[in-house]
Amino acid sequence: MTMESILGYMERYDYENLFICQDRSVGLRAVIAIHDTTLGPATGGTRMWTYPSEMDAIEDALRLARGMTYKYAAAGVNLGGGKCVILGDPRREKSEMLFRALGRFINRLGGIYLTGEDVGTTLREMEYMRMETPYVVTLPASWGGAGPIGGATAFGVVQGMKACARAAYETDSLEGRTVAVQGLGAVGSEVVPLLVRAGARVVVSDIDGEKVETITNGYSVTAAPPDEIAAHPADIFCPCALGGIINAETIPRFRVKIICGSANNQLREERDGTDIHARGILYAPDYVVNAGGTIFDTDRLNPGGFNRERAMTNVSRILETMASLIRISREEGIPTYRAADLLAERRIDAVRKAKALAARGEARL
Ligand code: NAD
Repeated sequence: MTMESILGYMERYDYENLFICQDRSVGLRAVIAIHDTTLGPATGGTRMWTYPSEMDAIEDALRLARGMTYKYAAAGVNLGGGKCVILGDPRREKSEMLFRALGRFINRLGGIYLTGEDVGTTLREMEYMRMETPYVVTLPASWGGAGPIGGATAFGVVQGMKACARAAYETDSLEGRTVAVQGLGAVGSEVVPLLVRAGARVVVSDIDGEKVETITNGYSVTAAPPDEIAAHPADIFCPCALGGIINAETIPRFRVKIICGSANNQLREERDGTDIHARGILYAPDYVVNAGGTIFDTDRLNPGGFNRERAMTNVSRILETMASLIRISREEGIPTYRAADLLAERRIDAVRKAKALAARGEARL
């Protein structure tokens, strides 16, 4: 992307705003992208990363903000898509004053952008930003936030898996199904007990041997080497580690009927989603089935503040969302990743039209 093409890119994908923030006194350089606020305030975490160039940072903020629009729309959450990126090394350049300065910028936006944690930031920095602005969603439970979200994300992934099982095997029971789980971090380690409780046979893998040991000691599961887990013969592959795991090299090696996991950006390229569909493997679009954490986390924006029961009920609806998009995929003969985008776009369009009609009605009064 070049400076000249930024507006062209924003026009093509219908972005609303792009803010560039600078505070020399604390070394802050950040970009805030607002994609679409039809459903509600643009929401998305603050990422801190050593970008090779300023353009890379701008492009990442824009791309991630658009992804958030689709994620919330498909999840039925009334929030829009936004993202903030800080140019810097999260291991060396974090400071209270830097995050407080960013908090003041976000405050000046008056609530069109709400932030949270992302790669390179933690709940500690969210506390610093909260000192300057109320527009911080992800906070520790002691600050009125939802606390850790890995468990809710895992629950949502398993709901998505049930919808896939219903489509592939005509029952959403996971009893007796073999599930290969890649990655035993915050999400994968919570997926395993849910699957074991559902009666699935679970095979796990992680590059961190200690995590594998903890899980195999705690549950009746087996382990496979990291370089074999994606090709492990199973009913379901559950990627909970890296992005790009569905690609030209892995696709011919998959020996499963379903792929459903939390990892972000699982398709290395869009055409991998088309390819996997053509091979008859049911792919659960990542941003749909991994939305549990964000549904849980943003529940505190509802009237009355955070309510665990309501939050988990909303997370459980990932099952219905996944079932709807499988229906769209089958009826329209399109891959599931495209059906997910359509589902999101149709919801935004419907709300946009309803708002326009309501505005016209008000004008007539
Ligand atoms: P995490 O960093 O806690 O865990 C990732 C795990 O994957 C680590 O244990 C790591 O050792 C392991 N791993 C890395 N490479 C591997 C490989 N080649 N083979 C096997 N294991 C490998 O991350 P997380 O929070 O559990 O998130 C997992 C994925 O889900 C990420 O892609 C993340 O972006 C996505 N995600 C997470 C959440 C959440 O609530 N945490 C929400 C949405 C999406």
